[in-house]
Amino acid sequence: MSNRVVQGRMVTPGKLAEMVEGSSVLEAEDITDADRPCPECDGDVIAVGYMPSVTEFVTGYKCQECDWSDDDRD
Ligand SMILES: [Zn+2]
Repeated sequence: MSNRVVQGRMVTPGKLAEMVEGSSVLEAEDITDADRPCPECDGDVIAVGYMPSVTEFVTGYKCQECDWSDDDRD
């Protein structure tokens, strides 16, 4: 299991991917540390790889302290 606490709530990899994507995803990998600070609040950022569709793989980033999130799409 790689559940993490985000903004005070325990989230699974799938739930974290949904928070970044804004909709449900097909599959999500384990949550990892992104080793970079949040640009908004300097909090810890975690990363999760997920598939929003069968043809796409995205790495999403989410701050554990605030609403900030991002992904690696161009
Ligand atoms: Zn933040």
